[in-house]
Amino acid sequence: MRLLIVEDDDIVADAVARGLAGDHWSAVRAASAEAALAALAAEEFDLAIVDVGLPGIDGLSLVRRLRGTGRTLPTLVLTARCTLADRVKALDLGADDFLSKPFEPAELAARCRALLRRTHGALGQTIRMRRMTVDLAGRRLRIDDGDVDLTAREWLVLECLVRRIGLIVSKDRLLQALSGPDQDASANAVELQVSRLRAKLGDAATIRALRGLGYRLEETDPS
Ligand code: CA
Repeated sequence: MRLLIVEDDDIVADAVARGLAGDHWSAVRAASAEAALAALAAEEFDLAIVDVGLPGIDGLSLVRRLRGTGRTLPTLVLTARCTLADRVKALDLGADDFLSKPFEPAELAARCRALLRRTHGALGQTIRMRRMTVDLAGRRLRIDDGDVDLTAREWLVLECLVRRIGLIVSKDRLLQALSGPDQDASANAVELQVSRLRAKLGDAATIRALRGLGYRLEETDPS
């Protein structure tokens, strides 16, 4: 697996590379966003870890640029300051996950593995959870051994959440998903669809509301 580490601080970059050493990653280091863009133009990567604090173009602007060009490269953002506003901004700009510094190398490695699993799951178009199977291409939801019918709007919400299972999906993202060409959805519409979806999922999965951040779909622990 090819990893791009975008970090100007040698100590942190080394810690990132060390944290992932056991996972068969081959890492390329870029000390600036400009160097990262050059590396991305030259070769394919499986994952990028991007520090927010970079000289020149900052890490969040780099993420925005990548998303602006339609790149779906899974991206984990590292941030020294991790205020609510920073996290919301990182997610809204298209980061897939974030970790605040200082971090435990084992946690970083686990987050990277989870990101890749999700990416590959999304490519396969079928996402399997302990009790739920979501067939994105066929628009089919199975819970335990039964099919569950969803309305088109409930699907839009489930699809956003399941593609980022275990991660926060901002309310804005759900609003965009629910908005049609002719009409904007309201914040209330998001809450309504989430509550309807929750009723249909029952105890097979949990949609957690994170105040000010958005929602997160989580596996229900086996009882
Ligand atoms: Ca830095």
